[in-house]
Amino acid sequence: MEKVLQLTDVSKSYGSVKALKDVSLTIPKGSVFGILGPNGSGKTTLMSIVLDVLGADSGTYQWFNLPHSANARKRIGSLLETPNFYHYLSAVDNLKITSAISGRGTDADIDAVLEIVKLTERKKSKFSTYSLGMKQRLAIAAALLGNPEVLLLDEPTNGLDPVGILEIRELIKRLANEGITIIIASHLLDEVEKICTHVAILKRGTLLTSGPVDEVLSNEDIVEIGSADLSSLKECLSGMENVLSIKEDNNRLQVHFPAGTANMEAVNQFCFNKGITLNLLLNKKKSLETKFFELTND
Ligand code: ADP
Ligand code: MG
Repeated sequence: MEKVLQLTDVSKSYGSVKALKDVSLTIPKGSVFGILGPNGSGKTTLMSIVLDVLGADSGTYQWFNLPHSANARKRIGSLLETPNFYHYLSAVDNLKITSAISGRGTDADIDAVLEIVKLTERKKSKFSTYSLGMKQRLAIAAALLGNPEVLLLDEPTNGLDPVGILEIRELIKRLANEGITIIIASHLLDEVEKICTHVAILKRGTLLTSGPVDEVLSNEDIVEIGSADLSSLKECLSGMENVLSIKEDNNRLQVHFPAGTANMEAVNQFCFNKGITLNLLLNKKKSLETKFFELTND
C-alpha cells in the first residue's frame, strides 16, 4: 500500500485542553479518508498540524514517504476555513487573486477548476450572487488550483442544504475517481459512510479506530482468532452457529458475526470442545451502533 500521509504519536494541547493524544494514522494513496468525530474531538487541529498551520507538541508526520519539505506542501490542496472571497468580484477574478497570492495555478487552470466544480456557466457572476453551495464549490475550486494530488477538506458540507450536500458529495466522488486522495473531516457519520473508503474515528483527541469503512463501520462484529492449525480451526468455526463468514488474513482468521452477537467466551469454549487450542482471540471491531454510542456518550 502506497502511503500519502503517516502520523506517528501526534499530540497537541491548548493550555490544559488536550486536543490530540498520541494519534497515529496511515492514509493510503487514492483513498477518500474520513476523519470522523463529534465537535471538539480534534479534527481541525489534526488537519492544521499536517498542513503546517499549527505545530504539534510531540510526534511526527510525513507526507508522501518523504522527508519534511516545502515541496510536499505544493502537492496538497486544502480547505480549512471558508476563504475570504471578494463579494463584488466574479468567480474568475476571485480565483485569479487566490492564484496570485498562493502562487498556485495559471489562468488556464482557473477555467479547468471552475469546470470541475461546475461553475463555468456562472464564472462571470459576482460572488455575492452565489448560493452557499456555489460558494463552497468555489472554495474547493480554489483548493484545486495547481493540480494537487491530495485534497484536505474540513467539514465541506457544513451549513449546506440537502442539494448543496449532494453536489459536494458528487464532486468529491468525481475527484476521487481522477485519483486524487481526499481527506475529509466531518462530524456526520452518514456523510463519511456515503463517500469515504476509509475512516478514522476521533473522540476527545483520542483515535478510537481507523481502517477501511466496511471494516470499521460495518454492522458485523469481527473476532480475530488464531491457532497452530488454521485450516482445522476454520473448519471447526464454520460449524458454529451465528458465524456469517470467515476470512483468512495474515496467519489468522477474521470471523464475522451479526452485530452484537460475538461472544468471546462462547468462541473459546466452542473451539476448546472441539480440541482446538487458540493462540489468539481478539475482539476486532464493534458494530456501528456501538461505535456511535462510544462517540456520543461519555
Ligand atoms: P473539531 O475540529 O473536531 O471540532 P478542534 O480541533 O477544533 O475539534 O478542537 C479540539 C479541542 O481543542 C476542543 O476542545 C477545542 O475547544 C480546543 N481548541 C481548538 N482550538 C483552540 C484554540 N485555539 N485555543 C484553545 N482551545 C482550542
Ligand atoms: Mg473542526
